[in-house]
Amino acid sequence: MSSEGQGRHRMGSKSPQGPQESQESQGSQESQGPQESQGPQESQGPQESQGPEGPPRSRGPVRPGPGHGAHGPSAIRLVWVYPDLLSTYGDRGNLLMLARRARLRGIGAEIAEVNSDQRVPVDGDIYLLGGGEDLPQVLAARRLRAGRGLSAAADRGAVIFAVCAGYQIIGAEFGGPEGEPVPGLGLLDIRSARGERRGVGEITADVDPALGVERLTGFENHQGVTRRGPEVKPLATVLTGVGNGDGTEGAYYGRVVGTYLHGPALVRNPSLADLLLSWVAGPLPALDPQQEDLVLKLRGERLAAQGAPAQ
Ligand code: GLN
Repeated sequence: MSSEGQGRHRMGSKSPQGPQESQESQGSQESQGPQESQGPQESQGPQESQGPEGPPRSRGPVRPGPGHGAHGPSAIRLVWVYPDLLSTYGDRGNLLMLARRARLRGIGAEIAEVNSDQRVPVDGDIYLLGGGEDLPQVLAARRLRAGRGLSAAADRGAVIFAVCAGYQIIGAEFGGPEGEPVPGLGLLDIRSARGERRGVGEITADVDPALGVERLTGFENHQGVTRRGPEVKPLATVLTGVGNGDGTEGAYYGRVVGTYLHGPALVRNPSLADLLLSWVAGPLPALDPQQEDLVLKLRGERLAAQGAPAQ
């Protein structure tokens, strides 16, 4: 988030580049603030940390957002990570929803869509990863591990919201196409493996009350099952569907959140979108109910169809 009078915190790049990424180009960044709908605009290139690989780490508790000035944000920087590899079932809607709900509050949103041959900038506020098929998922994990940009962003307290394959990738390990263990980024102390059968269909779940988010509705399609380390909390308790495979759904630690929910998750669950935004921008005013008509109707329909009505 860029704030008046505050410089961006950037990580240095003195260490050697990772072997896979020495030729990668920088992610394209476009500015799409509320008064700037004239198309892409070149901006300074994002930076990447290229330090050596470290062991899987856990994120600390929620801290004030990076670059959050006393007068609030002028724009929130959203980074959509690897849409060329990780974007299934309309997961890009998560990006659009965050931008829309920020702008409706008068907060600008700068969007960077970073393909897998580009560097992941370290100076974003919220990073989004979507779902993916097995092989693109392995490739994405390999490139993200080599590039180190996402890990550096997590180190500086950025918000990360990762869906399905993205959720598995930010963990310590996940099951590859043949069930073989593939190393993840270790941003969240979780481990995923291939389960006995696919979890496919609608899912509903009640969110950890500590987060103050309404009942979740989404769509899931995954083979993976996920176990959490001791410090990582489940995002929610499953009402209908599969989720992590143990009656819980998703996981979070600090500002790193993962979920199996497509739908897209933040479109169907606007209070989850607002939670992520509030971690960057602070408390948010309620929206004009007219702006939420369609979303509330969609939520109502999907939850009722599962016998788990909106609370
Ligand atoms: N390939 C992973 C699995 O099947 C993730 C699937 C997805 O992102 N939809 O578990």
